Amino acid sequence: METVCSYCGVGCKFEVREGGKLRGVKSYPTNHGGSCAKGISLSDTLDVNRLTTPLMREMTEDAFDSVRYDEAFARIAQAIQHTTPDRVALYLSGQMLNEDYYVANKLAKGFIGTPHCDTNSRTCMASAVVGYKKTLGVDYVPVRMEDIDQTNLLILIGANPAEAHVVLMQRIRKARKRGLKVVVIDPRRTATAEQADLYLPIRPGRDIDLLNALMRRLIAEGLHDGDYITQYTEGFETLHDGLLALDESTLLDSAGITSEDFEKLVTLWRENERIITGWTMGLNQALQGTENNLAVITLHLLTGQINRPGCGPFSLTGQPNAMGGREVGGLATTLAVHLDYTEANHAKVAEFWQTDRLPADGGLTAYEMLQSAHRGELDVLIICHTDPVYHLPDRRFVEEAIARVPLVVEINAYEGSETAPYAHIRLPAVPFGYKEGTQTNLDRTLTRVEAFEDKGDLLQDWEIFARIGQALGHEKAFDYADTRAVFEEYQSMTRLSEREHLNIFDADYEALKTEPFVWGEDALTSNRFFTTSQRAQLHFVTTKPHPEEPGESYPFLLLTGRTRDQWHSGSKTAQLDKLQRHKPLRFVEIHPGDAARLGITEGQPITIHSRYGTLTTEARFAELRPGTLFIPISDRRVNYLTSGRIDPYSKEPDYNHTAVWIGVAG
Ligand code: SF4
Repeated sequence: METVCSYCGVGCKFEVREGGKLRGVKSYPTNHGGSCAKGISLSDTLDVNRLTTPLMREMTEDAFDSVRYDEAFARIAQAIQHTTPDRVALYLSGQMLNEDYYVANKLAKGFIGTPHCDTNSRTCMASAVVGYKKTLGVDYVPVRMEDIDQTNLLILIGANPAEAHVVLMQRIRKARKRGLKVVVIDPRRTATAEQADLYLPIRPGRDIDLLNALMRRLIAEGLHDGDYITQYTEGFETLHDGLLALDESTLLDSAGITSEDFEKLVTLWRENERIITGWTMGLNQALQGTENNLAVITLHLLTGQINRPGCGPFSLTGQPNAMGGREVGGLATTLAVHLDYTEANHAKVAEFWQTDRLPADGGLTAYEMLQSAHRGELDVLIICHTDPVYHLPDRRFVEEAIARVPLVVEINAYEGSETAPYAHIRLPAVPFGYKEGTQTNLDRTLTRVEAFEDKGDLLQDWEIFARIGQALGHEKAFDYADTRAVFEEYQSMTRLSEREHLNIFDADYEALKTEPFVWGEDALTSNRFFTTSQRAQLHFVTTKPHPEEPGESYPFLLLTGRTRDQWHSGSKTAQLDKLQRHKPLRFVEIHPGDAARLGITEGQPITIHSRYGTLTTEARFAELRPGTLFIPISDRRVNYLTSGRIDPYSKEPDYNHTAVWIGVAG
């Protein structure tokens, strides 16, 4: 039997051997037999820290009682029926499979009638979604991992695949052996930067300045692709005039990049025929996250470095099925599948689901749900396979907000989330090994997830949402024989998008066990884009002043990010000694020069203060830009420090720009 790793967007395929031991499948295109320490340890986590019984209580001060699923569903249905749809929200997760997402989205938007159905992918990928939609007209990643094997130059900006996408990094290393050049742009000299041909230690939040300097120079040297621009794009004049009005050395000063390093970057761009730019949270999780994405995608359109083998702007998805959530329509800004809220789409979806309850417009995004709860505007919050109290920014605010919701339901396979103390109902779901369905990795590859353990009486996520739908009286709409039936209904729905680019309807559920299916392979090959004019949109953007710029009271800037052996709240990984032995989970990185100035020694506990909270942890010397600190998100307390600011377009939190000061722990 074969299945897929449930940790990251690479989507490594595993063969399940005797005793549940896992091994990478050599013939599979996502990993070619590769795996990482975290993924291969999944079989050790199957029964670690599990939640196995439905639990219910009246008030959060009370102890939980064990109940049957049905009792819990009845209480949830009653609470939904006793309020209005706009006071109900569903908070989903990139851990859910496509079938789980599909049924949850159908329940929320189709039958409860609330538009407030969003996913934790909002906190990592929303800026890329909006970036692609504003430029290409569709949420579509136009690069595949196999393009790494064909490209000549890979620029990684705000991405650390050596820790976050380990098997992809193995592929990059192999490609380097045949001559691939790698540039890493990051305020920290990460494990990825260590392996780069050129490392550019950019000042945090100044990526647009560097990208503008590069685009400006490419235009000045005639290295843009005039034919491509004329045939397939719009907006060149504004971009050209805007860029040429900027001053290169001012841009480089602002970005903190020396002119020598910049010349090396320009030379690499000039000398290489095929170029990919890959990015992840360093660009996305920012107040200008959408604009960061617009700048990268515009750079590739400007130079015609797109829609050819080995070229393109490559957003690297973090979670195993964040892509699936986007495809199914699990974001609050989408109605269903790839259909936005338009009158025509509304009519199609209403007919498909046979419902008259669809909300008229998009709803609250992930962090906005908590803002709404803080104002006392939510009565029911259903959270599935994720831990918003831990992962949302400005945690004190989030704790106050969630405590004001009269009914919080947590669906989770694990014990010990930070959200659990605020829940009134906790429903066990099934984790990897017990879960079945399909998931989509970071390059549109759809793979079958197979269960190799018996889940007994426990329910898949989709079954939980279907049973809530039935408890609300919608028996027929949620009467599915099995997971395959859900998948096939979802497949039919993907036919509703006009251009039929989301051709998941062509996949075969049985065949997916062994053969992956890559959707949208022909979507952009003719360079006809999904905008009204069918032309890609070039955008001119500039860096805006940031309200959290360091100053006298808060002189340091806090960055956050992932460490290799941690995933999510550590519900699985933090339990495994063998992973913890590799990498500590709690520390703060500080530049040795800053530490010396403040008299801080390596390993010393220091207290970090922001406007939002404090955190004490161990200092670790590292090579990052002076004046910045880095705390990994494996420290569950990190969001006591971060600011609750969100990108105005994508609504993605700005986890990478909080001003802080350091005190020595007493
Ligand atoms: Fe799992 Fe990602 Fe590691 Fe592959 S690279 S084994 S998908 S965590």
